[in-house]
Amino acid sequence: MFGWTGKILKIDLSSGRAVREDVPADVLYEYLGGRGLGIRLMRDYFRLDPFSPEMPLIFAVGPLCGTPSPTSARMSVVSRSPLTNTIYDSSCGGLFAHKIKAAGLDAIMITGKSRRPVYIQVTETDAALYDASGLWGNDTLETMSALMDKGSVAAIGPAGENGVLFANIMVNASNSVGRGGLGAVMGSKNLKAVVVNGGRRVEIAQKESFKKGQEDVMRLFKASPIIFGELGISEYGTPALVDLIRQRRMVPTENFRKTFFEGAGNYSGPSFKRHYKAKKEGCFGCPIRCKKVDSCGKALPEYETASHFGALNRNSDIHSIVKSNELCNLLGMDTISMASTIAAYGESTNRYFGPDEIVRLVQKTAVLEGEGEKLALGSVRLCESLGTPEASMSVKGLELPAYDPRGAYGMALAYATSSRGGCHLRAYPIANEILRKPVATDRFSFSGKARIIKIAEDTNAVADSLEICKFALLAASLEEYAEMLTGVTGIEFTGQSLLKIGERIVKDERFYNCSNGFSSKDDMLPERFFTEPGSSGDGIDIRPIDKARFIEELQKYYKMRGLNENGCFD
Ligand code: SF4
Repeated sequence: MFGWTGKILKIDLSSGRAVREDVPADVLYEYLGGRGLGIRLMRDYFRLDPFSPEMPLIFAVGPLCGTPSPTSARMSVVSRSPLTNTIYDSSCGGLFAHKIKAAGLDAIMITGKSRRPVYIQVTETDAALYDASGLWGNDTLETMSALMDKGSVAAIGPAGENGVLFANIMVNASNSVGRGGLGAVMGSKNLKAVVVNGGRRVEIAQKESFKKGQEDVMRLFKASPIIFGELGISEYGTPALVDLIRQRRMVPTENFRKTFFEGAGNYSGPSFKRHYKAKKEGCFGCPIRCKKVDSCGKALPEYETASHFGALNRNSDIHSIVKSNELCNLLGMDTISMASTIAAYGESTNRYFGPDEIVRLVQKTAVLEGEGEKLALGSVRLCESLGTPEASMSVKGLELPAYDPRGAYGMALAYATSSRGGCHLRAYPIANEILRKPVATDRFSFSGKARIIKIAEDTNAVADSLEICKFALLAASLEEYAEMLTGVTGIEFTGQSLLKIGERIVKDERFYNCSNGFSSKDDMLPERFFTEPGSSGDGIDIRPIDKARFIEELQKYYKMRGLNENGCFD
């Protein structure tokens, strides 16, 4: 077998038993790897409570991982989210993914619960549990420093140990399995870290075909203004979007009560360069290197983080934003949910928090101190407890990211249909509606959006299963990656055959969610977007979304997916 290793490592933390098993070849062909493989492996577990000891936590890589295929050193972590209760996957770059493959594995599936804190060490030939009592309570950087001589590390911080419902898993110093609280699932198992090492190489079946696909992708990257242009993400990182989204008057501001924030320029891409001497950094082997670090090598915020600790909280202090981001990484929390929950708390209690207060709330949340105990539940549970459920700007319990849907109707639909809740990356219609790639669409119209969202969801499910970065698809397409996949595996794949696989994965996710009680009532945006306008100006009118038209397009989407009017299966 080329590309895949055909092996999964299953570890039961309750018994301490670890076994390597074969993954049936047809499962790999039908689900590829990463998110798809994880979703397939969840078939016997998706009904379990996220904190049940038997709930798996699956780390899975794709068939291109370990090859020079651009942006493919990534993995997905799959489980059920304690924040949303949906099936959940979160993709992340970094050396860790590469090392899973180098240890001879396509996936590591962890079940059970250890009686005491442990870390797992995985090598090409072995997997063992070690006492982590001395690491419990440490932040993610301290944990990584203690274990990094043994291999590449994925670790939780105090937030994961304390069950913060949006706790993340940090991978190396700056990559995060961010959204959905899978760090809390890891913490509930008393698992502090996973360390992986290995030296196996991936053999390529058809070198010429692979090389051609690789060259095609690199040519497209180089020609792309969004990627390698003067103002692109390679130069400025994702904060390159700050100015663009502000110009379009769709910046979520003051907990989505406005859509324009004058102070956003203070934390734009050029501002990070000016104040922090931002330098390029990247996921392992990535030619784009969109991550940015300061002069000491500390990770600087991504666009979503900067915008939500900024505009969403009416905070234009770049240092407060950088500090909040750093603390989230160290303490192990998702930045989008943290910033959104603080903003929802502010609206619920009629307050705006100052730059230093925001930083303090981040610290308190991770250790459940004072009001941090309620913030740790995420915005839905927090706002319900405060009697202000309408202040949680979320879909299916996942806080919305930094694109106001009143400024991009495809994004509105995609937030609603996303299998993991309010997520921009399931379909990322911002590519069409704002970046005008691969073709421009009218951002204030629902026409044709159901089809666009369906295709984009299927495409991104493939990206998450091949484990390529979705930014790669701003320039290249599945055609080029199919060419490389064919080269690596020796099995014929096309863009169309990959899309069928993506469709299968999205369908499985919806089936799991519907089986757990989700339906069209959950494919819905917060009411504010249908009743309140955004901040119009500069000739741009930001109106409330027409709810009837939104529902009409949602029903079209269901039809295209073969679902009933309730968004589920007959
Ligand atoms: S483009 Fe950025 S996020 Fe994507 S793989 Fe490269 S460095 Fe990582």
